Amino acid sequence: MKKFSTINKFSKNFNFLVIGGGIMGLTTALDLSLRGFKVDLIEKHTLGKGATLCAHMIHSGYRYLADNRSLTHLLLKENLILQNIWKNFLIKEKGLMLTVNKKSNKDYLKRFQTNSKDINHRLFKLNRKRIKTMELALNTSIVAGYLNVDYPLKTEFLIKGYSNTLKRQGQIIYENTKIVDVKFCKEKWNIKIKNTDQLEPIEKKYNVVINATGSELDKTAKKFGYNVKIERFFGSMFFIKRVITKRILTLCAPIQPGNTIIPAESGTLIGSTWAKTKKQLRDKSSVAEVLYNINEILDRKIKQNEIKKILYGERVHLAIDEKIDNFSNKRDYAILDHSDDTGKDFFSVLPSKLSLSRFVAEELVDKILRKHKPFKRSKTKKCVINTT
Ligand SMILES: Cc1cc2nc3c(=O)[nH]c(=O)nc-3n(C[C@H](O)[C@H](O)[C@H](O)COP(=O)(O)OP(=O)(O)OC[C@H]3O[C@@H](n4cnc5c(N)ncnc54)[C@H](O)[C@@H]3O)c2cc1C
Repeated sequence: MKKFSTINKFSKNFNFLVIGGGIMGLTTALDLSLRGFKVDLIEKHTLGKGATLCAHMIHSGYRYLADNRSLTHLLLKENLILQNIWKNFLIKEKGLMLTVNKKSNKDYLKRFQTNSKDINHRLFKLNRKRIKTMELALNTSIVAGYLNVDYPLKTEFLIKGYSNTLKRQGQIIYENTKIVDVKFCKEKWNIKIKNTDQLEPIEKKYNVVINATGSELDKTAKKFGYNVKIERFFGSMFFIKRVITKRILTLCAPIQPGNTIIPAESGTLIGSTWAKTKKQLRDKSSVAEVLYNINEILDRKIKQNEIKKILYGERVHLAIDEKIDNFSNKRDYAILDHSDDTGKDFFSVLPSKLSLSRFVAEELVDKILRKHKPFKRSKTKKCVINTT
């Protein structure tokens, strides 16, 4: 009982600012809120307009199985949790599929199978005959496949669900904001925030600031006096007018960019592609490359003029930094505790995939609370997100 009241007193006097209303910022704010803390979230535009807007699939990690066992293991575990707490937003299709074609690399496939045994995960292999009965449109170059648990999802609704859940818990979300001034005084961050609808900026004090600004992570950290080096990648997701498959299809091996097709909702398909520069991405040939890859999997021809809309987005990774001990800071996720150097509590955080956001938020908040005892467990595993 004594411990409980200490936690309540601590929660009441300790407050957080989360900067960035993408999946990472929202998930972190929810984790804090469920542990009883007061948290404000500020978003420069409207919620979910960053990289999160482009993401329409919950990764199972299958695609990384051959090369990154630990990442797959983590994503599979997280997927089970997300299927439970995000269930309203998943577009469930039966028998999602990872295809193997004639050109597939044998070594790669061997690693894929061996690693699945190592992580104790049973793969459901499908032979060509079975695949053909499940998906008539598949090309004859497809020789086998695996069932996987990648799920298409309604990202926009998920964001709305998070925002409603937070508001219901009494947390404040400011959209269309700009940080106009930052000071550190008497162990607190003093932050002036301007909302485009307000004439006067508001000024608030926070114990801890969390930087979840995705592609602007470096810019935001700089405002607070810290340096972060990031690497940028540019991606697009595009929607095609008609339904060509009822399943997510990805090439198993060799892994190529632009090999994903996701039926998002009736009448649409999504493909994805990646490039080093924005210009490269807007180049028609990269779209053509994705269409070519889709044609590699499917029998029916998809012409460029059948594209309904394209979403462009920027995804970032942390440039390699020896100080970080996460298992793969380049590809997967990153939590940076800047306060190690300064004593001011400021953290930067990146999930790299929707399916990692809950796990990363929990790890981040655990890390913060271990510094500022008393500790309180996360409840995000059980909090179902609803739009209502
Ligand atoms: C084309 C593309 C396709 C993808 N597909 C998938 C997929 O299918 N599945 C998957 O799991 N992942 C996918 N990803 C990756 C995934 O989208 C990202 O890893 C994830 O959304 C990152 O979330 P985030 O919250 O860190 O960043 P973001 O979603 O970018 O959020 C950062 C937010 O911070 C805000 N912000 C920036 N500066 C400030 C400031 N100064 N003040 C206030 N707010 C600020 C931005 O406006 C933005 O809303 C894809 C990414 C791209 C680009």
